[in-house]
Amino acid sequence: MFFASDNTSGLPPRIWEALRRANDGFAPGYGADTLTTRLRTRIREVFEAPKAEIYLVTTGSAANALALATLTPPWGAIYCHKLAHIEVDECGAPEFYTGGAKLVHVDGADGKISPAALTATLGAAGRGNVHNVQPSALSLTNLTECGTRYTVSEITELAAIAHAHGLPVHLDGARFANALVAEGCSPADMSWRAGVDMLVLGGTKNGLMGVEAVVIFDPARAWEFQLRRKRAGHLWSKHRFLAAQMLAWLEGGLWLDLARHANDMAARLEAGLAPHAQMLFARGGNMIFARWPRALHTRMQAAGAQYYLWPDTEHLDGPPEAPVSARLVTSWSTREAQVGEFLALMHQPD
Ligand SMILES: *Cc1c(COP(=O)(O)O)cnc(C)c1O
Repeated sequence: MFFASDNTSGLPPRIWEALRRANDGFAPGYGADTLTTRLRTRIREVFEAPKAEIYLVTTGSAANALALATLTPPWGAIYCHKLAHIEVDECGAPEFYTGGAKLVHVDGADGKISPAALTATLGAAGRGNVHNVQPSALSLTNLTECGTRYTVSEITELAAIAHAHGLPVHLDGARFANALVAEGCSPADMSWRAGVDMLVLGGTKNGLMGVEAVVIFDPARAWEFQLRRKRAGHLWSKHRFLAAQMLAWLEGGLWLDLARHANDMAARLEAGLAPHAQMLFARGGNMIFARWPRALHTRMQAAGAQYYLWPDTEHLDGPPEAPVSARLVTSWSTREAQVGEFLALMHQPD
């Protein structure tokens, strides 16, 4: 019953097979191989973005931090939600790679930045005042860290506000595929057409072994990104192993099927939990946040169920009936039987 994260899953057979094929023979390094060239062409097609530049890195933190560094000077302000991965889970990497830019929180319910809050924050940002950091980029996450989803029109509205203030838009898409299939739109609709300037297309949480593509819709920013990636030690020399995985992932829409399966498993889990648990957020894809009594949590953990408590600062020394909040994440490899086992355990009388 592995519901701790979608990164606890392995690789689908087709990805493993693509790695095996890439292992035959020799290929030039640093992305000069034919698989990387084919992948870049493929991503341009999938995103209907013939001018886009695409670069691979192995972690989402590196992808986010390097993307933001390309968008932001050291005296810049990056606007994000207070729960954003770049704020909470990257050990200061965005600040480090930008050379000291400041992350500025923008409010909003359920992990989503509200347009009114963004307008107000940017209105009071102090542009042109030498004493203030200068507004430089907006960063969104979809799915959000609360498992909710920005709709295309919500992204469009936020991006328009950012652009009106001269800010480019970065989208942390660690779970872009899960958001995409749930939203039922095209990759272009949820990225550049909605105003996203730089997308981190996450592969790792959806079946790949450490592959994240930074999709740069404005090619003028591409050279700087390349230099920053190399300087950060993130230009992988055996690049073909990254490209081979992502190519196989895009082939025949596998990436969408994997994400759809993860979302379906989350829907099944949510339906089974609903009578017994309080849902904290509207589910946008493959993540569920729910509350149940501490005694039940103790029993579930003792039986081997794996999930995180959220927020992780919540202490466990309350009375047995005190609620705790759990975060459950399903993946491409979650089986119906695992969901069934979890629900059966939860419904067992004490
Ligand atoms: C997992 C995740 C990332 C990437 O994290 P790494 O561990 O650095 O690969 C980025 N953003 C979000 C929202 C995530 O959930």
